[in-house]
Amino acid sequence: MTARILVVDDIPANVRLLEVRLLAEYFEVLTATNGPDAIETCENGKVDVVLLDVMMPDMDGFEVCRRLKSDPATSHIPVVMITALDQVSDRVRGLEAGADDFLTKPVNDLQLMTRVKSLVRLKSLTDELRLRASTTRNIGIGELLSRNFASEDTTPKVLLIDERKTSVERIQKMLRDRADLDVTHDPHAGFFQAAETSYECVMISTAFADFDPLRLCSQLRSLDRTRFVPIILLAEEGEEERIIRGLELGINDYLMRPIDQQELTARLRTQVRRKRYNDQLRASVTQTIEMAVTDGLTGLHNRRYLDSHLQTLFDRAVARRRPLSVMITDLDRFKAINDAHGHDGGDEVLREFARRLRKNVRGIDLACRFGGEEFVVVMPDTEGAVAEKVAERIRAEIAQAAFAIGQDGKAIEVTVSVGVSSVLKGVDTVAALMKRADLALYEAKSGGRNRVVAKAA
Ligand code: GH3
Ligand code: MG
Ligand code: MG
Repeated sequence: MTARILVVDDIPANVRLLEVRLLAEYFEVLTATNGPDAIETCENGKVDVVLLDVMMPDMDGFEVCRRLKSDPATSHIPVVMITALDQVSDRVRGLEAGADDFLTKPVNDLQLMTRVKSLVRLKSLTDELRLRASTTRNIGIGELLSRNFASEDTTPKVLLIDERKTSVERIQKMLRDRADLDVTHDPHAGFFQAAETSYECVMISTAFADFDPLRLCSQLRSLDRTRFVPIILLAEEGEEERIIRGLELGINDYLMRPIDQQELTARLRTQVRRKRYNDQLRASVTQTIEMAVTDGLTGLHNRRYLDSHLQTLFDRAVARRRPLSVMITDLDRFKAINDAHGHDGGDEVLREFARRLRKNVRGIDLACRFGGEEFVVVMPDTEGAVAEKVAERIRAEIAQAAFAIGQDGKAIEVTVSVGVSSVLKGVDTVAALMKRADLALYEAKSGGRNRVVAKAA
């Protein structure tokens, strides 16, 4: 994993020092010796992480950070503040300016590398989501990407896993009104609780009498349900090695005891903010994908989805020597329905037809709107004779009860013709399978409509 790191420090020797160490780890390095240059580089280039000196003349690091974080074009770039003193007040100011992390001068090599690597990893996740979101034509995505940060108006739901009563009480007091905090003393129970409830952050104490807290971190990271939940480790002085291992395992942040209230709330806020931002991106990507494969009128899958899945279902059936059938349905004299009841009336008929169709097929069947008033159902594990019965059931379900449309529930008689075909043993193809179903449908139409024709072999 390589990445582009921007080093910002007004003293060239300090820049050089970090540059050399980053280059040795094969990072690409950009440099700046003042705030405005740093901001410009972030706006122009593809910066993955910023290492930012706090003390600079004119525009100090806090101000640079604040500006980067308030500009939608740069707000997702992780910023690590480099402070001269390990001052809690500096850290809090930095976190308030939106910094993602801190390093204290002189910068410890291991800490530098692990922090940079962990932030690069997070950044690449966000980048991936931003890319997927922006390459789609979903309206609303532009708005989402330009939004500075996801909403912070709701109290985050947080889980604390800590077996020491006094520590728990102290943290509960600190987070009163700032978090909806659940507590568990037992790490095993904590794991299940984290998996069952959707928390926005999990805080894990390192101080268990006889349990390895990193085991819990790695379990949470390997479970789908908790893969993306931010984890903050609450560590003791002198546990640097453990923290570094934790960062490698994917924890997001840590706090050293004694815990400072401001630092705790600021770090929690940073994690929750990032999670909400990523969650929104992920949801909009998912929604876009769903929109791309769903028919807007009926909610069934669309033709594109059928085209990309039918071959897979076909191959699987052939490989497992299992039957597979398809049916093509086409509403009878639908043009006349449109003519008599208008296009909107026709649309209502299509929706009601889709509802009845869905009701009569199994969950594993793939029902799609093929286009216009034609629908296709792919039925895995289904012999031709069974598929024919299903088709007949659907035909009857449509013809038996009139469709009620419009506000006055006007009754319309609707009928459907259906062609059925099944995969042949020996040589067969998707195209031939569909062709046979289409021929069967044509026979149903020419035979008088409102009927099912199956192509047996
Ligand atoms: P038959 O299939 O029984 O031979 O007659 P038909 O009248 O159904 O045949 P045809 O395929 O020629 O007509 C289909 C009509 O469906 C034509 C088109 O205007 C209409 N149609 C296609 N898509 C939609 C849609 O999304 N909404 C509505 N309301 N009508 C549609
Ligand atoms: Mg048609
Ligand atoms: Mg028709």
